[in-house]
Amino acid sequence: MNSVLHRPYNFSAGPAAMPQEVLAQAAEEMLNWPDANGKRCGMGVMEMSHRGKEFLFIYTQAEADLRELLAVPAHFKILFMQGGGLAENAIVPLNISALKKDADGGGTADFVVTGSWSEKSFAEAGKYCHAHVAASGKADGFTSIPDAGSWQLNANASYVHICSNETINGVEYHELPDLKAMGSKAELVIDFSSHVASRGVDWSRVGLAFGGAQKNLGPAGLTLVVVREDLLGHALSICPSAFNYQTVAKNESMYNTPPTYSIYMAGLIFRWLKRQGGISAMEAANTAKAELLYRTIDDSGMYFNKVQSNCRSRMNVPFFLRNEALNDAFLSGAKDAGLLQLKGHKSVGGMRASIYNAMPLAGVQALTAYMQEFERTHG
Ligand SMILES: *Cc1c(COP(=O)(O)O)cnc(C)c1O
Repeated sequence: MNSVLHRPYNFSAGPAAMPQEVLAQAAEEMLNWPDANGKRCGMGVMEMSHRGKEFLFIYTQAEADLRELLAVPAHFKILFMQGGGLAENAIVPLNISALKKDADGGGTADFVVTGSWSEKSFAEAGKYCHAHVAASGKADGFTSIPDAGSWQLNANASYVHICSNETINGVEYHELPDLKAMGSKAELVIDFSSHVASRGVDWSRVGLAFGGAQKNLGPAGLTLVVVREDLLGHALSICPSAFNYQTVAKNESMYNTPPTYSIYMAGLIFRWLKRQGGISAMEAANTAKAELLYRTIDDSGMYFNKVQSNCRSRMNVPFFLRNEALNDAFLSGAKDAGLLQLKGHKSVGGMRASIYNAMPLAGVQALTAYMQEFERTHG
């Protein structure tokens, strides 16, 4: 237990656990980065110019690997930005809310509110455009996704924003909405912060996707934006230059200094993902992990999950003890069993197990075994 390499299973929602072999590689390369041929360049990645050939190699490989993994079509730009998911709540409307203009010169955006994150996105966008709630799951405590047929979409909306995985509420779109089939001409914007790279993306349905890296791609500090090219060049005049997608795209994400070390770490994750068999293999593994955990919850008399089965998140699994007085005992026993950071978000309560790509099936098996043992001894 005292060895630095013996680490418990970490269920943090984010910043989240990273694959141990990736951390070990980064540690080995930290002082003196080796190129693809193993030749040491004499400096660590944090110390390199972002315009030098060493970092350009790291950047180019990361971008190409991500494009391959997520099957991002050539007419989409991949941008490595900063500011996190929350900054994107402003940056998105600053860039694309005026794709279509209203009579007063402003733009309109629709929001499907399915939890804490899309609620935040809606509130922020209102500073820059006419923001409308097209549908909300608030009335049932964010335990379902309002049926697409009930969405009140604006004919003049530039985009429809969804959070495709609500990290706090544990609600995930198992399939992205098809706005065209719904008769809408708006672009679909997805906040995929907490399930990016956990499954495939149907890019034919998406205009723009964004996500902070710290859930499933690497360390905090990097924000991924994938945007269809024809959405560039429509930014409001007040949009900060460093956050103008067209400017960022023209400069290959190097208009200003990008988060170089986070890009390097994400690049190591992308190569790790390829070694695991790519996104389809991750999706199969994530489905198996989530099924095991939800089955354990549903089969027990002690635990329950409130989310409708057709939109339960495969990444973030909130669950509750029927007897809340046992919460502290559950958490301290979990810690002793080598299961960390299971306390639920304060707005939801109970427990939450985040089981991102880096969580092996063995970690979920250890958790479910602990849950069953706890039920046997405390039930
Ligand atoms: C974590 C998270 C965010 C916020 O990301 P920051 O990097 O903290 O700004 C936004 N949306 C979702 C879905 C998240 O999980």
